[in-house]
Amino acid sequence: MSIFDKRMGKEKIESLKLAEASREEEWHYPSFASRLFQGALEWNLIHPFPEQSKEDREEGDKFLKKLEEFLKANLNPDEVDETREIPKRVIDGLRDMGAFAIKIPKEYDGLGFSQVNYSRAIHMIGSYCGSTTALISAHQSIGVPQPLILFGTEEQKKKFLPRFRKGAISAFALTESFAGSDPRLMKTTATPTEDGKFYLLNGEKLWCTNGNIADVLVVMALTPPKIVGGEERPQVTAFIVESNSPGFEVTYRCKFMGLNAIQNGLISFKNVKVPKENIILGEGQGLKLALMTLNTGRLTLPATVTGASKWCLSVARRWGNERKQWGCSIGEHEAIASKISSMAASVFAMDAVTWLVSHMADNKKYDIRLEAAIAKLFCTETCWNIVDDTMQIRGGRGYETGPSLKGRGEPAFPVERALRDSRVNTILEGSSEIMHLFIAREALDFHLSKIKPILDPKVPIGAKVSAAFSMGISYFIWYLKLWIPSFGGCNLPSPLDEHMKFIRRTVKRLAKSIFYKMMIHQQRLANKQNILNRFVDIGGELFAMASVVSYTESLIRKGGDRKNLLELSDLFCRQARNRIAGKFNEVSHNNDKISNAIAKRILRGSYEWLENDIIKL
Ligand SMILES: Cc1cc2nc3c(=O)[nH]c(=O)nc-3n(C[C@H](O)[C@H](O)[C@H](O)COP(=O)(O)OP(=O)(O)OC[C@H]3O[C@@H](n4cnc5c(N)ncnc54)[C@H](O)[C@@H]3O)c2cc1C
Repeated sequence: MSIFDKRMGKEKIESLKLAEASREEEWHYPSFASRLFQGALEWNLIHPFPEQSKEDREEGDKFLKKLEEFLKANLNPDEVDETREIPKRVIDGLRDMGAFAIKIPKEYDGLGFSQVNYSRAIHMIGSYCGSTTALISAHQSIGVPQPLILFGTEEQKKKFLPRFRKGAISAFALTESFAGSDPRLMKTTATPTEDGKFYLLNGEKLWCTNGNIADVLVVMALTPPKIVGGEERPQVTAFIVESNSPGFEVTYRCKFMGLNAIQNGLISFKNVKVPKENIILGEGQGLKLALMTLNTGRLTLPATVTGASKWCLSVARRWGNERKQWGCSIGEHEAIASKISSMAASVFAMDAVTWLVSHMADNKKYDIRLEAAIAKLFCTETCWNIVDDTMQIRGGRGYETGPSLKGRGEPAFPVERALRDSRVNTILEGSSEIMHLFIAREALDFHLSKIKPILDPKVPIGAKVSAAFSMGISYFIWYLKLWIPSFGGCNLPSPLDEHMKFIRRTVKRLAKSIFYKMMIHQQRLANKQNILNRFVDIGGELFAMASVVSYTESLIRKGGDRKNLLELSDLFCRQARNRIAGKFNEVSHNNDKISNAIAKRILRGSYEWLENDIIKL
């Protein structure tokens, strides 16, 4: 018996085994989000809300001022969108100010900025030009600098990192035509040469942002399989590859719905010779490296979309005031007013989540794998709703392009470009569906790590009995604690304290619900994505609420407008509570059975009659 349900099928189990082998098993540092799913609110982990030191803030301010002036004077995002190119002078200017080496430590010629200052820079660019944000962030959030900073040897760091300060561009190449979310299907191989000094790369990578112009790339490839526990296990290894290597060729440039200027396409590898020293972290460690790189790399997206959402808020505010229809400003009609206030409350929550997790990354004493994934999921999904609402508020002008608006003399708010540029954020760097699965797996680790030794056929019976005994005791104590009522608040101003009490109560309810579903479905729970997704969404909302409460309290303490702050955070928390209530209701009252059955029949073709009288491709 294993933790995987046999009914999943061989292929799925193989994919899951690879994912399991690549995850970090240990939790070396505390995780606020993980404790939420276990029914505990460790308030001291996020309160007081972390702050930048004066020096760090000033360093960031100086850079942001330079960046803003440069972008305003040199970068026309509409032109970038139309020509599909970021002008060379812009790339040169960004290179000169060190924008390609923001997080690289000073000892390797980088700017040596904190994650918070890096996020602030990306947040600013994200509010202005999606393609430029993708260039800068794919390069240093997932491209060569990030895994090298985390796992590179001293030689690798000395050799490659200073090149990025001079403007070398990098990329991250994992995806292939048949291997999207499921890396087990990867086909690119890296075969060791006879002398063992090199590897020969063969295969093709797809959709690698910056790949078409990159000087160096991190490429994931299959090295020879190994036998682990009697079974053959695929080995994914990460290589630093120079794009000027013979056999490396960009064969196609893709065109997308948005992010028009990104350099992204098909890259072919034909016997590309890569020295052994270019392996990062070790043979077979490639997927682990990708996952651990993304723990902080993923934080760029929350920063990007928070910047983009603030831009939307500013458009909605101005147009909501300016546009008069039916005797008043459209912002006074309740249907539009509620969109505008929800937008502001959500932007405030995105701010809280983005800065909290960025600070946690800087602190280095937190395990942020869950927090970063929740931040990515929450912020990218919320941003999409915000951009969509902004288009609705702008009406026909939202659908018209910026240059067209300008051509007829109107203010050129490019909402349609913002919408096109932001859509992909719920797909890349872990789609929303994969983020749900990832968060669910990590959140359930508390339970799975207890059960694993009992299900493992290799563990001797004596050890199983003792594991089962200690599991029983620890579950008993844990479960009892979930029934102890939570009376106390956190001495916060009203209504924050009431929301904190709600969070305290609800994390216990969440933990109990997860536990019951685990008891009922056991290993089959892994296949019940809708149930798991609801739990993940509830945990995500609770995380956002707690971040908002802590953030609000800190802003009030620092002299922020108390009334404004309290009413904004109150609105977010009330709306989150409604969403949570809806999700809990769906846990027990849902249409999963019928909806799954219909989906099966649709896929088999039983409902094809519904696609009548249309022109099919
Ligand atoms: C503009 C752009 C830039 C990109 N940049 C890079 C880059 O720099 N480097 C790189 O390596 N890749 C990059 N990608 C690839 C991106 O990461 C993938 O698109 C993403 O991983 C999803 O893979 P896929 O598109 O093949 O979708 P698939 O994996 O085929 O998935 C299709 C749909 O099914 C869902 N799905 C898949 N598996 C499951 C499951 N088990 N449970 C539930 N739902 C599931 C997905 O969420 C998605 O909705 C980029 C893609 C784009 C469009």
